Amino acid sequence: MRIEFSGGAGTVTGSSHLLRIKDKRVLLDCGLYQGRDEKDRGNDVFAYIPSTIDVLILSHAHIDHSGRIPLLYKRGFRGKIYATPPAIALCKILLIDSAYIHGQDAEWENKKRSRKGLPPIEPLYTVEDAENALKLFEPLDFYQEKEIFDGLRINFIEAGHMLGAAITELYIEEESRKMKLVYSGDLGNNNIPLMKEPKEVTEADFLILESTYGNRLHPDTKTEEDELIAIINDTYQRGGNVIIPSFAVGRTQELIYILNEYAEAGKLAPGIKVYVDSPLASKSTDIFKANMSYFDKETQEKMLKGDHVLEFENLFFTESVQDSMALNKVRKGAVVISASGMATAGRIRHHLKHNLWRSECSVVFVGYQAVGSLGRILQEGIKEVTLFGEEIAVNARIHSFSGLSGHADRNGLYNWVKAIRKGPKEIFLTHGDPEASEALKTLLQDDGYNVRVAREGDIIPIKDYIKLVPEIDVYEMKKTAIEDALLRLRKKELMVKYIESIDFERETEIEILSKMKTILKKQ
Ligand SMILES: [Zn+2]
Ligand SMILES: [Zn+2]
Repeated sequence: MRIEFSGGAGTVTGSSHLLRIKDKRVLLDCGLYQGRDEKDRGNDVFAYIPSTIDVLILSHAHIDHSGRIPLLYKRGFRGKIYATPPAIALCKILLIDSAYIHGQDAEWENKKRSRKGLPPIEPLYTVEDAENALKLFEPLDFYQEKEIFDGLRINFIEAGHMLGAAITELYIEEESRKMKLVYSGDLGNNNIPLMKEPKEVTEADFLILESTYGNRLHPDTKTEEDELIAIINDTYQRGGNVIIPSFAVGRTQELIYILNEYAEAGKLAPGIKVYVDSPLASKSTDIFKANMSYFDKETQEKMLKGDHVLEFENLFFTESVQDSMALNKVRKGAVVISASGMATAGRIRHHLKHNLWRSECSVVFVGYQAVGSLGRILQEGIKEVTLFGEEIAVNARIHSFSGLSGHADRNGLYNWVKAIRKGPKEIFLTHGDPEASEALKTLLQDDGYNVRVAREGDIIPIKDYIKLVPEIDVYEMKKTAIEDALLRLRKKELMVKYIESIDFERETEIEILSKMKTILKKQ
């Protein structure tokens, strides 16, 4: 078996790891590079040949893990894609949405290109590619161990990170020896609203582990929730709005859950209206509502009591562009939750344009902001930004919360590894900026673990558990090569001897050739 790290290594987006098991090629995730990674690495080139991939195992629906599946299809992949049922439901809206965005980007680019007299470019993939790729999905629910082929069984367990997110246990059998590889996917944070805590794994021979927050500790979730509500109430008092860039899937629903709790407890000022301004967020909220059985005990109990955790008075979903634009006229008391989460695209940029310059407003970041994204630049305290060709002063108060993150922090990751009672022999760190992965590596190494920070393009043969066949092979090859050479030498000698002894007067040509043949045939 060998692992080839082809994405999401040394960085947080574009997750994709190729396993070679026997004569099969298994892909773990096929994510899109986003933000800076997209510019640096490009999404249009795969480190593998898509048509040679036999099967894809998808950890969860986030685009940084699933976003290149339609491109994989477009380039010839026709294998099965295993994912949990809620992950598939979310992929259905996310991949189609992603295809639309790529289509729009290409259209925009082509307008510019045609003015320059350049030929048009193709979108990364089309809605049709996404629809076709979706047909390859095979649902595999949590704890339904399945044989994928002779030599590989997999089992999904809850990662807690978002609806349908899985940790994958891979039971691999080669050369009559066995091993267990665990792929963490994205590991959840403890105490995330709605979500269960990441399930512990008791055994693992090898581990591929995410490290997004490998160098950071999240503050207490409850304290941060209180602070968030205080900021919302305070901004309302000041006469402004609160703008929250948020990933449409996952984070938005968690925010709704928190706001629902505080609103129902009477802790949210009654004049405040919460707007979820993202069609994608509305659609995914519906999927969340349809999959309540996957949520934690607390949520289930509330639902049983008749409290719908994703609905409350003063919560509105805006669908149309007109409704979204109407929000730009609201001066006070609006909490606008909109995508994208790092403010790199989407409706959120309009809301920032209309509120950033107002000192009575607040912008609240609740998720990871990648280096170079508008979100990160604002967090770093920039005083002016350009939005839609206009220079906008940054006067609004900027707040950041990391405790509301969907990812485990340093302690979460460490404790999850410590809970593995048997193994792992080696840990490969992925899904992290280099500083985060290096910090986690040091922490785990100090505790005696064998850790490596995976780099893109790393090809790692896992020999530990299989018979070291290659070494025996090399020996066998050498032995055969020497014997071969000796035999040839011996034949050459015999031939020379024979040629020297030929009596050309007596022997006919046929006789000579037949003797030569006999010599060559000699073993
Ligand atoms: Zn994720
Ligand atoms: Zn991720």
